[in-house]
Amino acid sequence: MKILVINCGSSSLKFQLIDSDSEQVICKGLCERIGIDGSQISYTPAGKDKVTVVTPMPDHNKAIELVIEALTNKDNGVVSSLSEIGAVGHRIVHGGEKFTKSVVITEEVIKAIEEVSDLAPLHNPANLIGIRACQKVMPGVPMVAVFDTAFHQTMPQDAYLYGLPYSYYEKYGIRRYGFHGTSHSYVSKRAVELLGKDAKDLKLIVCHLGNGASISAVDGGKCVDTSMGLTPLEGLIMGTRSGDIDPSVVEFIMKKENSTVADVTNLLNKKSGVFGLSDDLSSDFRDLEEGYNNGHAGARRAVDAFVYRVVKYIGSYTAAMGGVDAICFTAGVGENSGFVRKLICDRLGFIGAKIDVEANKVRGEEKTISTPDSKVTLLVVPTNEELAIARDTVALCK
Ligand code: AMP
Repeated sequence: MKILVINCGSSSLKFQLIDSDSEQVICKGLCERIGIDGSQISYTPAGKDKVTVVTPMPDHNKAIELVIEALTNKDNGVVSSLSEIGAVGHRIVHGGEKFTKSVVITEEVIKAIEEVSDLAPLHNPANLIGIRACQKVMPGVPMVAVFDTAFHQTMPQDAYLYGLPYSYYEKYGIRRYGFHGTSHSYVSKRAVELLGKDAKDLKLIVCHLGNGASISAVDGGKCVDTSMGLTPLEGLIMGTRSGDIDPSVVEFIMKKENSTVADVTNLLNKKSGVFGLSDDLSSDFRDLEEGYNNGHAGARRAVDAFVYRVVKYIGSYTAAMGGVDAICFTAGVGENSGFVRKLICDRLGFIGAKIDVEANKVRGEEKTISTPDSKVTLLVVPTNEELAIARDTVALCK
């Protein structure tokens, strides 16, 4: 079966067509600047060159039409007709407490996604627009919603509650939800396969270190804690997000800078993290590594603080689970930066973890990067959220 995977943002739409039998990508692409001047679609059919078409895209309906045209056109198309697409999997950012796993999309499901939209006001409405646009262009094709929050719904109350009046949780659903769940789920399951043991016998820590970064504790195959919270702002220091701060910082900055809550929220999301700590050098770890090695003070400060926070979380999750068998690195930084992995693992001697410097040279491939005598297995496991979405979609549509 051919599965179209859609990841719809407010002005962008990423897509992949995946053959569910071979699990190969048939075509992948991106619509950019939807509803803005200068919109374009670019896509790469497997084994062919990238195609870019600059064309007006006033809304997501038009973007979906262009995706279908890209997939079916005579010159570069990968399917002869729309009927070859068996199902569509949609990435949905927030499922609140309603969704603990992926579901077939019905009108009831759409209503429930709408109901939790105030928890992700920038993302869920865009995800819903993507669903509606697909329904219009591909009526009758089954669709599945795969939630970023679902994998973390097994967290116990101790881990998900904030120390706030309980009534705020009951009235407004203010609690920790966690994100990147599709990635944490995929990587932890893959790690279980690589370790060749039963999931119930393993305590894993998954470090999803990308531009957005989060870490999770997976005990017996179930997520028991994760670093992101009500929103993806909590937890690790990220590319441009602050991660954990004292909430009083918000009011303090507002008074000092005579700014609004919206200004400070923007600062915490877009101008903080390693970008802000490096004195605006970069949010990209390739630039930060170069700066670090050239003695750039900001780059050193940013990378060291980033690494410290990851190590601190690994320590606390080891305590939460009463031990750890394996630590997995994934996403842009985790998969590619041996430099960052080494800085982190060099500080994990307290749990008996030892990195193999030679094996750690790996980039973007599954590999064990710990020494044979390491008490904790260190693994690089590239994530594949689109494949995870396609798998769930097939499983629910068969
Ligand atoms: P992601 O959000 O998972 O797509 O990760 C994107 C981030 O990964 C970029 O902003 C970089 O910081 C980082 N990254 C990608 N490739 C490399 C690399 N070769 N070395 C170090 N960092 C990388």
